[in-house]
Amino acid sequence: MSQPSQTVTNALTIDVEDYFQVSAFAPYIRRDDWDTRECRVERNVDRILGLLEEQGTQATFFTLGWVAERYPAMVRRIVDGGHELASHGYGHQRACDLTPQQLYEDVHRAKTILEDIGGQAVLGYRAPSFSIGTGNLWALDTLLEAGYRYSSSIYPVKHDHYGMPDAPRFAHEVRPGLIEVPPTTLRLFDRNLPSSGGGFFRLLPYGVSRWMLQQVNSRDAQSAIFYFHPWEIDESQPRISGIDAKTRFRHYVNIDRNERKLRRLLRDFRWGRMDRIFLGQPAQEVAVA
Ligand SMILES: [Zn+2]
Repeated sequence: MSQPSQTVTNALTIDVEDYFQVSAFAPYIRRDDWDTRECRVERNVDRILGLLEEQGTQATFFTLGWVAERYPAMVRRIVDGGHELASHGYGHQRACDLTPQQLYEDVHRAKTILEDIGGQAVLGYRAPSFSIGTGNLWALDTLLEAGYRYSSSIYPVKHDHYGMPDAPRFAHEVRPGLIEVPPTTLRLFDRNLPSSGGGFFRLLPYGVSRWMLQQVNSRDAQSAIFYFHPWEIDESQPRISGIDAKTRFRHYVNIDRNERKLRRLLRDFRWGRMDRIFLGQPAQEVAVA
């Protein structure tokens, strides 16, 4: 196998949420019970920060307002590490389950909290579970209204929980002043295969994921967007009982091997922050006015 491209910079992204906030667990864990659960997000983010420092890599952290409020020191460590602080909304509600007014309140609240703590403008947003698609494209106008400059929320794949298979595969101006940066897919056999991380990265052999990203870098000559969650490297997280088999498999498969795989991935490709790659944001950050 040939060496992956080291000339294209890919975007490394982390969706900062805890294991009990995952959308697939929503039928089993009440939102009101979140505060009674053992939180593990801080220690997991610290592990990730250590891993990135060891590899000399900077990334974008799409962080929940709910988490930032409880762990402000962790948020400051993200910023101090030279990473981009971006928004995953406040309460991890799918954008498609909210009214325009509710979504505005959620994304505006998250942006305000993150900017207050991080001291830098928050320009990027990723909808929980990639929940912007054909049925709620108005959400893009809401993001603009709330002051965001880019979104990474429309996954051009077919999936039972999300996706808009006909959406463009690469970064594009989706509204004047707003860029959509879709999670990476590989075009194969007239289909878009999800190639950007999450459960598929844990499930597939490392070599397959590596090949897919390499194809996007070389054949499509595009930057790839990769994502993972802090709980995806946490083999000791409390197990949620009573969940259906598919959810259990998707959540827990190969978590114990994931950190090792991620380390290889960081070494094999060149990685950077979303804002630097797609907004041409200079290395010197814009302070919040
Ligand atoms: Zn999420």
